[in-house]
Amino acid sequence: MIRISQLAASVKPSATIAAGTKARQLKAAGIKVWDFSLGEPDFNTPKHICDAAEKAALGGQTHYTPTSGTAEVKAAICRWYKSYHGYECAPENVIVSNGAKHSIHNALAAIVGPGDEVIIPTPYWVSYSDLVSMTGATPVLVNTTPESGFKMSPAQLKAAITPKTRILMLNSPCNPTGTVYSRAELEALVDTLLANSEAAILSDEIYEQLTYGDAKPTCVATLRPALKDRIITISGASKSYAMTGWRMGWAVAPAAVVKAMDTIQSQETSCPSSVSQAALIAALDGPQECVAEMRKEFAARRELTYKLLDAIPGAKVVKSDGAFYAFFDVSAVFGKSFGGKVVTDSLTYCNTLLEQAYVNLVPGVAFGAEGFVRMSYATNAATIEGGLAKLAEWMASGK
Ligand code: PMP
Ligand code: GLU
Repeated sequence: MIRISQLAASVKPSATIAAGTKARQLKAAGIKVWDFSLGEPDFNTPKHICDAAEKAALGGQTHYTPTSGTAEVKAAICRWYKSYHGYECAPENVIVSNGAKHSIHNALAAIVGPGDEVIIPTPYWVSYSDLVSMTGATPVLVNTTPESGFKMSPAQLKAAITPKTRILMLNSPCNPTGTVYSRAELEALVDTLLANSEAAILSDEIYEQLTYGDAKPTCVATLRPALKDRIITISGASKSYAMTGWRMGWAVAPAAVVKAMDTIQSQETSCPSSVSQAALIAALDGPQECVAEMRKEFAARRELTYKLLDAIPGAKVVKSDGAFYAFFDVSAVFGKSFGGKVVTDSLTYCNTLLEQAYVNLVPGVAFGAEGFVRMSYATNAATIEGGLAKLAEWMASGK
């Protein structure tokens, strides 16, 4: 018997990936699943991006690249930040990894370890706390509530800071809540950190191109000059360009942090995929109408989702303006029996709902928010209508 390591045994499987896998298995067994689990655009990658990858592969870009990415892809990322956010960064500040999840992992591994604390506002994206724990550092969770629109206040941040704080993790627009902090709100948080700690900020901005209505994304690195040596910006192509399978994420950070991440990556994966890097250049430099079209579609789905959820008794939605998630409180039905099964928490709620109505949501507990569930609306209108009709019917069956 091979003994499993302490590290592996201490990591929880990703709840979002697990929910997606469950849906895939049911579908393979011929069952119609109303799947709202994975945060993944249902669109295929735009054609001009695929064409660039094909051209790169046929043109011989099939070899290892520099560990942190090609000079061309780094230049494209710098150009994109300059034009989208007015943020000036240099190629030495950029490292490309196999998805933003990998960038976050490498950034944490480069900076923190046992004895260090990382502040994470809840609800947080499932992987944050485990990625922090895998380094040996301690996640310090700061609870936010629907009343504040799931936003952490400067006072809450100040109270969470200790001499051991090494990183504050921010995620706006947020997965799972969709919350978008305003520029002023982020300035207040940054100023609180700068005044009370030497810690760095890891700002995950992967949903930056997906905001709706008047909400605007903020590149936190642009807020204060003092952040120059203190901030790691994370983003990637998965969400904005419908490129989840290409595994393209990146970090923009002080050169010393990039160098440390580069060393880790050189032992881990050698480099990101050469063909995917060529595709990423086409995504960032190419026509951006595809992003606008997908955003428009997500905006319409968001409206539809909220309209239908609002009509379901027992589902209390906290509306937000970013990403593609609806996060809602279903604790009103905890204690009720559905088809003979009593639902007691977000996990039993999601399991019972999937078993009985084939509607697949992700339990809030995985995001550090018991009582809630997450629905990804990155799927077509017919699925949203059909799935939410099923959800309404199932909710009404609770006794
Ligand atoms: N950050 C957030 C907040 C996310 O929701 C995701 C989900 N994919 C990621 C990072 C990682 O994305 P990827 O690894 O596909 O680039
Ligand atoms: N980030 C997406 C989600 O939250 C995709 C799955 C994952 O990487 O966790 O569903």
